[in-house]
Amino acid sequence: MPEGPEIRRVADALNRALAGRSLTGVWFAFERLQAYRPRLLGAAVTRVEPRGKALLTHFSAGLTLYSHNQLYGRWLIAGAGENPSSSRTPRVRLETEAATAVLYSASDIEIWPSAEVESHPFLQRIGPDVLDDGLAPESVVERLLQPAFARRKLGALLLDQSFLAGLGNYLRAEILWAACLGPDQRPADLPGEVLAALGRAIVEVPRLSYATRGGSGQTHHEAAFRFNVFKREGAACPRCRTPIRKIADASRPLYLCPACQA
Ligand SMILES: [Zn+2]
Repeated sequence: MPEGPEIRRVADALNRALAGRSLTGVWFAFERLQAYRPRLLGAAVTRVEPRGKALLTHFSAGLTLYSHNQLYGRWLIAGAGENPSSSRTPRVRLETEAATAVLYSASDIEIWPSAEVESHPFLQRIGPDVLDDGLAPESVVERLLQPAFARRKLGALLLDQSFLAGLGNYLRAEILWAACLGPDQRPADLPGEVLAALGRAIVEVPRLSYATRGGSGQTHHEAAFRFNVFKREGAACPRCRTPIRKIADASRPLYLCPACQA
């Protein structure tokens, strides 16, 4: 599943393609969404906003398209009047005079009044977006020490979208490595300087990934973002040269350095 940095790149690409332009074509695969078509035709896409692993596409008509790609959903963009090349099943098609954007394979698609979308159950459940510019390491440390999170194991906590939205399996591995922490450690047991290092890693690693990983938002060019441990089982830890190990943690593969994350 794509993580926060990849979702943000998709939002960037959709904003470049659609934002500020009137919709000349609107199509939904789901019957329950067809009634919104007349209101959306001619309306403008005002902004596409990433929220954790979901996307909110806001329209000038006072409506917002909520979509969560889960494992299989994917947005692709083509020129105006064209269709992206894909064998997937189209679910949403938005067209302007400049571009066509098609959401494939996703099923978690809803339209809400923009004024009420914050009460969507998913948005109610998730924590702050890890790529939010206003998120500071100090506030992450405060959150780590809240009663709901302080005694949780880091390996599971970093995957919990109610802690911070947008973290996933590769970011968890890279954050734990950056902070020299193992997955079984708990925030409440960590000394202040270690917590501070963890807070910095949680803020900085996703930003670095967003800034350097991937290109168009459609594909993953994993080489562009240098993984230190993720999918590097058996390779040397960049810090101490110990071979990286792959374990299972919270039902997901986790890559770590057994020496500097002991
Ligand atoms: Zn190491």
